[in-house]
Amino acid sequence: MISMENVNKWYGDFHVLKDVNLTIKKGEKVVICGPSGSGKSTTIRCLNHLEKFQQGNIVINGTELIEDVKVVRHIRSQVGMVFQHFNLFPHLTVLDNLVLAPTWVHKKPRKEAIETAMYYLERVKIANQAKKYPNQLSGGQQQRVAIARCLCINPEIMLFDEPTSALDPEMVSEVLDVMIELANEGITMVCVTHEMGFAKKVADRVIFMDQGQIIEENDPETFFEQPESDRLQLFLDQIL
Ligand code: ATP
Ligand code: MG
Repeated sequence: MISMENVNKWYGDFHVLKDVNLTIKKGEKVVICGPSGSGKSTTIRCLNHLEKFQQGNIVINGTELIEDVKVVRHIRSQVGMVFQHFNLFPHLTVLDNLVLAPTWVHKKPRKEAIETAMYYLERVKIANQAKKYPNQLSGGQQQRVAIARCLCINPEIMLFDEPTSALDPEMVSEVLDVMIELANEGITMVCVTHEMGFAKKVADRVIFMDQGQIIEENDPETFFEQPESDRLQLFLDQIL
């Protein structure tokens, strides 16, 4: 359902993604890790066209990602993304953050959009905060709102870019718990994270990137217990 084939990307002269090949099946949970600057964010941002790439192919659910407004809109309606810094609209209430895209982009009636929004706010256990503004919530609560906002477009694929790394330690688990629940429901998930406990619990496959390349990928047990490359071994020694 996700296929990246020989994807190459440059920022000016800098070759940031080098022949990235990645196939992710429907329902699969994939964790991507690697050192800072290795191209993890760039890789997943290419999947919903937040970044352009110069060479290779990306196909999402049978649709080739090309630079066409309709194609990009279609792909974004299937691929939700959660960011490190939540990216909520500060001037909108929690509820309006969730209602915005369904009503403006997807032309849903407001009443229906509100019902859906409240459903997902319940799911992430934050419905009682619907009238508040983002800056009145804790980081963990804001991130759960961001996840609920994503779910309102009913995506088949969720991309997470270090969703817990901006959170105070005591709030990490409330966000990971929501993500684990989603994973268990069968959504396709691609998650950049250094939460190795999460990777062990949830991932079907863990991918290690370094310097713009996929160096190694394996099931979590093999990945953590028997890393093949010295680079991965070194990385694991540093983070574990
Ligand atoms: P981190 O763990 O720090 O988030 P990352 O693996 O997500 O790192 P990317 O954000 O994908 O790394 O960046 C990969 C490389 O591309 C880095 O060297 C970064 O400096 C560079 N880069 C990222 N965005 C741009 C940009 N807009 N213009 C130029 N270079 C960029
Ligand atoms: Mg990053």
